[in-house]
Amino acid sequence: MSEADIQAAVKQMAKEIANDYKDEVPVFVGVLNGSFMFVSDFLKEYQYPCEVTFVKLSSYQGLTSTGIVETLLDVSENIEGRSVIILEDIIDTGRTLQQLVHLFSNTNVKEFKIASLFYKSEIYNGEYNIDYVGIEIPNSFIVGYGLDYMELGRNMKEVYQLNQTTMMNLVLFGKPGAGKGTQAEILKETYNLVHISTGVVFRYNIKNGTELGKLAKSYIDNGDLVPDEVTISMLKDEVEKNPDAAGFIFDGFPRTTAQAEALDNFLESKDMQVNATIALEADDDVLVSRLLERGKESGRSDDQDEDKIRNRFEEYNQKTAPLRDYYAAQEKFHAVNGIGDIEEITKRLSAVIDAL
Ligand code: AMP
Repeated sequence: MSEADIQAAVKQMAKEIANDYKDEVPVFVGVLNGSFMFVSDFLKEYQYPCEVTFVKLSSYQGLTSTGIVETLLDVSENIEGRSVIILEDIIDTGRTLQQLVHLFSNTNVKEFKIASLFYKSEIYNGEYNIDYVGIEIPNSFIVGYGLDYMELGRNMKEVYQLNQTTMMNLVLFGKPGAGKGTQAEILKETYNLVHISTGVVFRYNIKNGTELGKLAKSYIDNGDLVPDEVTISMLKDEVEKNPDAAGFIFDGFPRTTAQAEALDNFLESKDMQVNATIALEADDDVLVSRLLERGKESGRSDDQDEDKIRNRFEEYNQKTAPLRDYYAAQEKFHAVNGIGDIEEITKRLSAVIDAL
């Protein structure tokens, strides 16, 4: 997107907002870091009295990432009774926005409006009305004009779409206890990938008593699968939280054909794809003893007795095993012997990945 297109959008927004606020002195609030360029150009175009201040928020990354946004720079005082207009560089899922609204919820401002230069309408959760929009864009990762890719690119005057064809996305496949989690933790370091384990995300939510956790708990305790609808939307959310990932390792997802189809469609909509599905294979009896052993240390409810474990195998045989054919039809299925020591198995997996 050219500099001229961006500047035209900024100018238009300034004009629109001035139309509504020229008779008072509004407070513009930039959201750091991404909005610094937008705020600067916007103010140069806004030809009436106004004030400006900034807030800074940051999302936690990694395993426990559940969209918790941390406040690094808080709202300045003296905004009571004032009209506040948030200036965002981009609104995508709406997670940061939710935190912003929360931040201002007790400030007794006269009016609270949201303006965003870029807006991804396809993935926005729609929770709040967005009052002023510069340019609607598709759900692609963009860089430039204040927006970064791993902190780089903020200084470009234009906006570019990140080329994601070099991404590598892997599905680790296998019965409970096959070693998917252990291997994923190693592989993510070697290949610089983000590890998403649906089981880990569920357990995190159960531990923290979230709505999602409450919903999933009874299924997990019994060794049943959580309904597709819940799992698929959670997975999408986890992917959206890592827009600058070099690739993902999906561990424990997909587990049903509906999940596999949803994953394909979702990735395709983001110019991404599953590059390979690798199964870790091991006998049921080996797995049962591994899980019972793990259960002693972890206390996991579903690792405590053999009946529940066998039920998880049954769920796997009925619902997950057919995915072999699904991925084989796409020539993306690989199997690896999952018996042996951890290092040895990592080598087998790496051999498959390196050959991709
Ligand atoms: P895991 O840690 O992968 O063994 O998952 C533990 C439990 O979480 C499973 O037995 C299911 O109840 C639930 N779960 C994890 N991933 C999925 C999924 N993709 N679909 C449905 N349920 C899941």
